[in-house]
Amino acid sequence: MHDDDHHVPSPAPAGLERNASRARADATLDGAVCPACRTPIVVGGLVAHCPFCAAAHHDRCYALANGCAHPDCDHIPPPRRPNQRAGPTTNGLAIAALVVGIAAPLACLPAGAIALPLGLRALRQIDADRTQGGRGLAIAGIVLGSVSCLAILFMVVVGVAAFLTR
Ligand SMILES: [Zn+2]
Ligand SMILES: [Zn+2]
Repeated sequence: MHDDDHHVPSPAPAGLERNASRARADATLDGAVCPACRTPIVVGGLVAHCPFCAAAHHDRCYALANGCAHPDCDHIPPPRRPNQRAGPTTNGLAIAALVVGIAAPLACLPAGAIALPLGLRALRQIDADRTQGGRGLAIAGIVLGSVSCLAILFMVVVGVAAFLTR
């Protein structure tokens, strides 16, 4: 006599279990879509059911999302939800412009000439896409870039003047 596997409860690993009931997806879930990753749930795969709205997620997605990902569910975890007006994302070019702008006078390189167009491009991107932040950074990069450009120009002029009046 051999016992059926279905009667053996598999203990969920401690810590990962967030009150969701986990099970193998049966035929009733055929065609269901995981609200976290928006791909279909495969029959036989491990799924986690939200204890509040009963939405079925891939078990891994439920763990990754730190809870239910269904848009209408109260049990939505507060953090780690991108593109949900949780705050603007900082434009990468703006940061680059600032860093190069700061580095330019220190490095005595014409990096200011790089920071200036970087900052201007970042500013244009930020203005076009309201979800992006970093205006201040971009402007700082433009200012620092301009300053170092002027500094280089000044040094060249002084150098040339000194050479000519020697
Ligand atoms: Zn998923
Ligand atoms: Zn839910």
